[in-house]
Amino acid sequence: MEIKVLKDILGANEQMAERNRQLLDSNQVFAVNLMSSPGAGKTSLILETINRLKGKTRVGVIEGDVSSSLDAELIAKQGVPVVQINTGGGCHLDANMTYSALSNVPLQDIELLLIENVGNLICPAEFALGEHRKVLISSVPEGDDKPFKYPLMFHQADAVLINKIDLLPYLKFDTQAFSQAIKGINREVEIFQISCATSQGIEQWVSWLLTQMSMKQS
Ligand code: MG
Ligand code: ZN
Repeated sequence: MEIKVLKDILGANEQMAERNRQLLDSNQVFAVNLMSSPGAGKTSLILETINRLKGKTRVGVIEGDVSSSLDAELIAKQGVPVVQINTGGGCHLDANMTYSALSNVPLQDIELLLIENVGNLICPAEFALGEHRKVLISSVPEGDDKPFKYPLMFHQADAVLINKIDLLPYLKFDTQAFSQAIKGINREVEIFQISCATSQGIEQWVSWLLTQMSMKQS
């Protein structure tokens, strides 16, 4: 019984996600769903990415948050359009919330939409938003066992960003074992080692993003 209910919810979400995707496509907007646990660095990554993309592509942001608008305010200071979704305690974004937010995003004026999901490694993996790519940020302080604990999230991701690599000298984190574990779950995934504090690896990530956008358009 419970399983049937969950299937219905996810099925309805898929349909709504497809509608979002059509809306994005008809406006030639490429959307990325950014997921991670709380504090892994989604907002910092968005700020770094916006900075690197200035003059290259026009960016908009949907900011998912359980209650505050602190992150949205930081992003708005960069001069990019940002729409806040407060989930009111909800632990993930879904396609319906995203659809409501999309009506407030100036889709004709942007080419790339970054969607910051709620910090959570479990259910965001289940709820498609209509995005073109899923990106998972996993940071060094969280430990290198995450692919084993949250395999669905790692399985779904098109790219995994290992963030805060500037902390590697101080923490026990085996990047090679971590990457191998991810590849065991998801052979096709792209893995980047980045630091928003030192900007290391950001250029590679941004260039991957631009390539994905151009592949979509061709
Ligand atoms: Mg944030
Ligand atoms: Zn949830």
